[in-house]
Amino acid sequence: MEDTIVYRLGANCNLEEVEEGKTYLGWVQGFAPFGAFVQLNDRIKGLVHKSNVKVQHSERDPIIVRVIQIRSNGNIDLEEVTPTVYQTRNVTKKTTIVRISDIGKKIGRTVLVEGEIAQVKQTSGPTIFTIVDESGTGNAAAFIEAGVRAYPEIDLGDIVGLTGEVMQRNNQLQIEVASMTALDAEDAARVRERIDAALDERAEPADIPFLVESDVLEALRPQMRQVAKEIRKAVLTARPIVLRHHADADGICAAAAVEQAVTALIRESGGDFDAEYFLFKRSPSKAPFYEIEDVTRDLDFALKDNARYGQKMPMILLMDNGSTDEDIPSLKVTRIYGLPVMVVDHHHPDESVDEYLIAHVNPYHVGGDYGLTAGMLGTEIARLVNPAVSDQIRHLPAIAGAGDRSEAPERALYLELAAPEYSPDDCQDIALALDYEQFWLRFSDGREIVKDILNLGGDPARHEQFVNLLVEEANRAIEEQVEVIMPHIKSQVLPNGAHLFMLDVELFAHRFTFPPPGKTSGEVHDRLVREHPGAPVVTLGFGPDFVVLRSRGVMMNIPRMVRELHAEIVGGGVSGGGHLVVGSIKFVEGMREAVLDSLIQKIGEAPI
Ligand code: MN
Repeated sequence: MEDTIVYRLGANCNLEEVEEGKTYLGWVQGFAPFGAFVQLNDRIKGLVHKSNVKVQHSERDPIIVRVIQIRSNGNIDLEEVTPTVYQTRNVTKKTTIVRISDIGKKIGRTVLVEGEIAQVKQTSGPTIFTIVDESGTGNAAAFIEAGVRAYPEIDLGDIVGLTGEVMQRNNQLQIEVASMTALDAEDAARVRERIDAALDERAEPADIPFLVESDVLEALRPQMRQVAKEIRKAVLTARPIVLRHHADADGICAAAAVEQAVTALIRESGGDFDAEYFLFKRSPSKAPFYEIEDVTRDLDFALKDNARYGQKMPMILLMDNGSTDEDIPSLKVTRIYGLPVMVVDHHHPDESVDEYLIAHVNPYHVGGDYGLTAGMLGTEIARLVNPAVSDQIRHLPAIAGAGDRSEAPERALYLELAAPEYSPDDCQDIALALDYEQFWLRFSDGREIVKDILNLGGDPARHEQFVNLLVEEANRAIEEQVEVIMPHIKSQVLPNGAHLFMLDVELFAHRFTFPPPGKTSGEVHDRLVREHPGAPVVTLGFGPDFVVLRSRGVMMNIPRMVRELHAEIVGGGVSGGGHLVVGSIKFVEGMREAVLDSLIQKIGEAPI
């Protein structure tokens, strides 16, 4: 007679792996008046009726049982057997591992998936686990009781094996979890390695030419690819991205381009239905640097989202800001919390920031300058992230160039590209409309409004109407402000021959309305430049504790002047910066005379 075969059910096995007539090794789980409950593994339990119990047992005793019947409700009837000679054989889960990108073909079937837990969200019903494998991102719903966290032992970042039925809910695929276990260290390492290798490959950005020919862009390509790759990796691993950008037309164009690329990629790669909102946040910064106020807000949200919604800590992307000494206090905060930070900027960079960054794109690094604006860089990076959005965003660099008054050769090429749909005047108008609307949006990103202004909203007629209205309003406001302030301008000719114009934007302009002091000074400067053709012109718009500089034809280095003023004027509290010839300086109100006098002297010494 052959030996009896006693099967040992693997930890992943379900009812599907249990067969009537076969004999299994289990353990006694507990007793009832009518018999004993026997576990075949952690999740499969059957009943041995008291008439079928052969010997006395205690809880946890091993026991060999034969499956008499599996009822339609899943209950298993067992009988105890006591073979004297037997072989044991392991039963492993039949299901082979299904890649998450393939679960759409398995609706209604039970699948086994292995991957990393990228988010754990507790809803008022089930717990939703977002899981990432080498092929994509999926959601798995586990339910024990409404609003109660299922599988509390499974944490963000764990590598798990989970089985469950693939369902379709509201057009979203979801796995209804039947079982989920954290893999042991060895298996987890194997799966993680597989995922990492595949992700590294999938995150590789597209190999495409830039929209325009540019030596500076080509020289920046490796760093741009690196930023694009990190963005793609964040999306593929469901890591939230916080995009901080300067709240002007150039910064908005840079950020909106990346937003188009990233949100499309998020939608494509699966995940939650509203993932494009909580995995991507765009926030305008008033200052052209990452202020403490901004980082504090970002950190506050990130920690709360992590605690409440089981989200990963975000990656921070700074655009049109982030590359100067002024960013360092905030970057120190990001380092303490381990937030990876990347910068795409065209402000004159300070080397000191680089130790805090995982990537930094800046034309100054390769001999370019601020003329290659953040909006141009951002659009090209967005294309590397997701080439599918190329056509939608190709006009954004021309708008960015208009906003930042770029004089780089690339601007003309981007203008050519935007024509005939967008003339240079259209680009100028859209840039103004962005500045005007952002003033009223204040700290909000106005995601959908900005899309309409940039004609990314899919309604060109409304785009045109809206931009026309905003431009009309903005120009009226500017006209009014400039009319009021012009009679109050004081002028002098400096030793180097530069015409200096000074306006008190605090006393002679309306406050807290559009245009703000910087814009007012810029508009006045443009008018003065037109009135003095060919002459070097510097315009200073000052308030009680700040001065805004605009210049033409004077070789200034504003960041250096700020450093000198800071050192020379003791008790002046001088800080600030900006581009080489456009910028703003802050100081303490009581030292205004001293700071302005010294500043004017420096401007008067600058070469023409
Ligand atoms: Mn800019």
